[in-house]
Amino acid sequence: MARADDIPPISPMGMTLDAFVELCAQQGVGAGRAKAAYQDVYREGKPDSAPSRIVLPEIVKRHEEPVNEGVTIKFVQRLPNPNHRLLHRGIDFDDIESVIIPMIGRSGRKTHTLCVSSQVGCAMGCDFCETAQMGLIRSLTASEIVAQWWAARHIENIEIDNIVFMGMGEPMDNLDEVLAAIECLTDRSGASIPMANITISTVGRIDGLRRIKDQVQEPGWKRLGLALSLNASNDESRSKLMPINNKWNMQELQDILQELREVRGGRKIMIEYVLIPGVNDSLTNADELAAWMKPFLKDPTREKAKGHGGLLNVIPYNPRRDSPWPAPTEEQVDGFVDRLVSHGVFVNRRRTKGRDTMAACGQLGTAEIRKRQFVPVTMNNDSNRDTDER
Ligand code: SF4
Repeated sequence: MARADDIPPISPMGMTLDAFVELCAQQGVGAGRAKAAYQDVYREGKPDSAPSRIVLPEIVKRHEEPVNEGVTIKFVQRLPNPNHRLLHRGIDFDDIESVIIPMIGRSGRKTHTLCVSSQVGCAMGCDFCETAQMGLIRSLTASEIVAQWWAARHIENIEIDNIVFMGMGEPMDNLDEVLAAIECLTDRSGASIPMANITISTVGRIDGLRRIKDQVQEPGWKRLGLALSLNASNDESRSKLMPINNKWNMQELQDILQELREVRGGRKIMIEYVLIPGVNDSLTNADELAAWMKPFLKDPTREKAKGHGGLLNVIPYNPRRDSPWPAPTEEQVDGFVDRLVSHGVFVNRRRTKGRDTMAACGQLGTAEIRKRQFVPVTMNNDSNRDTDER
């Protein structure tokens, strides 16, 4: 058996304990030592515990913002990228942003939700989204995703209760790495986040949702949280806002969500709706949306029906750079929400905090990150037009 100090360090970042033990065994390190090293990294926050050693991305920016529930912390990690497409401009790194959001639960207990990114940029091209303007730079590895949790837990020193994949990127575009990261984050010997406290948010890639349908039937995965970024009440306007709708329409989305509800034992699916004035905020839109949500509403004829099946999050639009649309007024949001409630839709209205932090899928990313990585074809000197609104 080799002494742990005598072999080259191994990083367990992004790995399950079993995978790490196996890797260590190949180097002749016993399972007991490997397990202790794994726990040192994940539970004790020790970056160095032979044979484990992790090299964390540098945190290049950090910002605190007081909110009613406590303090929201945003931090930016810098990842080396020697093959960057902007290498000719001297850029050989990627910046990714994560946000720690304090929340007060129904019981009054304070919890912290970490919003992580799964890609640098995004290929989905949603019209209302900041990240879309960057295009896709690259997908993150499981290790880079888990490193966001490690920094939140052990550098910020905050107990993370929930993790949402609502940062930069479309998780279904990088599903292998996202699922590997979740396997690691839920490992009971390590980060030990309950599966029910992790949510993947998708723009509606049905091939990905089919894979999730299989995945949640595997042991331990049933309680994985799911969110759909819907943002429109009919196909015409959704296809304009979100190009993915040209490939998979709202009927197909409704069908797969119903299938998922069956295999997930009736667990709620969050439906995200970014409310954009003049685009998707009319009372007709509310009526159409309520009709689309109907299969997910509680069936009054079934007394013991499990939950509602669907929960609608209405998120006031956070204007992106050069946005043609303003943010909605409180009255516009109230009118829309009231109409939905009158149809029996269970609505959760995100407050102003959401505007500054976790506005919606992909609306993370500081203006600085976007400014640097946005590759303008006709606008070489637009950097002066950026303002850091976060
Ligand atoms: S809203 Fe989400 S899926 Fe759409 S472009 Fe932005 S990050 Fe990508």
